[in-house]
Amino acid sequence: MKQSPELELIQANMMPGALSAHGFIGQDSRKLADILHTDAKSLEKTGITKEALAEKMQELTDYGMRGLGTPMPVDDIFEVEVGDYRGKLPCPFKDNAKIDKRQTVVRRLDTGVIIRWTDLNIHMIKEHGFFEGYGSVYRLDPVELARFLGIA
Ligand SMILES: [Zn+2]
Repeated sequence: MKQSPELELIQANMMPGALSAHGFIGQDSRKLADILHTDAKSLEKTGITKEALAEKMQELTDYGMRGLGTPMPVDDIFEVEVGDYRGKLPCPFKDNAKIDKRQTVVRRLDTGVIIRWTDLNIHMIKEHGFFEGYGSVYRLDPVELARFLGIA
């Protein structure tokens, strides 16, 4: 897929060491335009919107924050633990958004499966439909994520 010069610049921002030590692309050799397109297509098949995913993630993070570092049970389905606030990180999409640096770890009590995300993940999913590249530290598969959250 052809990539606009703007996405080209954004992708450069996503490389390791630009905005964050690990970056957001991982071992993915695809263009950002292709990464966005492929994830949008697979999410489309679930019938779930990126906004609905982000909303559920935010809800769990908000619950987790009440635990102040202690795991919090949510709805008898999840256990949520939110780490310390560690400053702010600019969004690589150049929208002037500065996002809190904070990690949420969520465990499903029925399966034991654990998924973690950052506040920046939530923002990038909601606003940009970006789930990070293959092999990236915080890569989230949109379909797995929707199932994990119990909304697909
Ligand atoms: Zn953004």
